[in-house]
Amino acid sequence: MVCGAAWSHEQWSAGLQRSVQRVIDNRGDDSMKEEMRRAVAHLTSIEQFTGLPYWVAATVAYGDHRAITGKPIEKPEWIKSMPRGFLRNPTVEQVVNEALMVVRDIWKEYGKPDSFRIELARELRQNQEQRASAHERNRKRNTERKKTADTLIKEFNRPKPSRKDIDKHDLWKQQQQRCMYCGQGIQKPDLFNTREADIDHIIPQSRFYDDSLTNRVIVHRKCNAGREGKDDMLAATYMKSKGDSAYQEYVGRISEWDLPYGKRKLLLAEEVPDGFINRQLNETRYIGTELRKLLERIAPVNTTVGQVTDALKNEWGLTTVYKEVLKRRFERLERITGRKLIEEIHRTNGAKHVDYKIEGYDKRIDHRHHALDALVVALTRQRYIQKIAQLKQRERSPHPR
Ligand SMILES: [Zn+2]
Repeated sequence: MVCGAAWSHEQWSAGLQRSVQRVIDNRGDDSMKEEMRRAVAHLTSIEQFTGLPYWVAATVAYGDHRAITGKPIEKPEWIKSMPRGFLRNPTVEQVVNEALMVVRDIWKEYGKPDSFRIELARELRQNQEQRASAHERNRKRNTERKKTADTLIKEFNRPKPSRKDIDKHDLWKQQQQRCMYCGQGIQKPDLFNTREADIDHIIPQSRFYDDSLTNRVIVHRKCNAGREGKDDMLAATYMKSKGDSAYQEYVGRISEWDLPYGKRKLLLAEEVPDGFINRQLNETRYIGTELRKLLERIAPVNTTVGQVTDALKNEWGLTTVYKEVLKRRFERLERITGRKLIEEIHRTNGAKHVDYKIEGYDKRIDHRHHALDALVVALTRQRYIQKIAQLKQRERSPHPR
């Protein structure tokens, strides 16, 4: 697009003019991603489509890249890094971009990959009780969702309620049909009109990836816009910036309304909580999800987890091989310090087997362990994962069948 004095929408192609008109017409539409809706909410005529951030302009002109799932990528040159600000989390964006560039270079050098395998973040360790209660919570939530869907069909004239519609309704109920930020009512006809009311994240997604209901509220659009940097502000910080009385009323609502404990905590938080959900773990999950969406356009994507990688590394004897590689560093250290650090261990399980006990050993002192992990992940097959799961199962059950 042309900028500066030469800018004129009349020079745009008919196709682009149509795209822009479509964006103007669908501004409040649920089909548009939340951040995009926010970015174009104030644009009401074609003349205003100037000086937009790059990612907004790109999305207007080419559509939402993230929504393109069916379009296969057929040449490595088609792999483009995402423009800055495309994903809400800069760390995730950078990692995904770097991964894409690696894929592009591998493709150019060795030909198109047959498939991908991504190692996803470890699940949080849960004991059986926790797993059971998580399962129970899920089941309850699904039942609630079904009920809400019925209500929406019957009472709200939403013949095909989306998951987001359901969430909106349930948040609205939870908040006594009011806006979290001003306490005024949200009228029933406005609930599904995103120009009037929309979902906001208590802790912004750019800083804490939690898309659960606990981290979401429903608010008037007018109460959620206009402040510089709002997108990076926590709800409590934002409310404080509105002045003391607005903040006190907000705190009052939090204690009066029947809100879950976890949500109250988030609503009052002025720092991103670390603790019950590890932020890095969430980022890793987010990376896995985003990367998967993009790579699926090139070749089939499979996944694995760290436990499987570790088990295979051990089974294939690579843990010992790697230790032998690092052993030289410790031999050098022995010579310098004059202390014995390495102890040779002989094991006989089936064949004779030599292993080393090394004082101060940690695989992470050498970055090549990432390369080794990547190789093992690449060589993982679905049937190995199943086999490992079976073996673990057998280990755990006291009476082998
Ligand atoms: Zn409001």
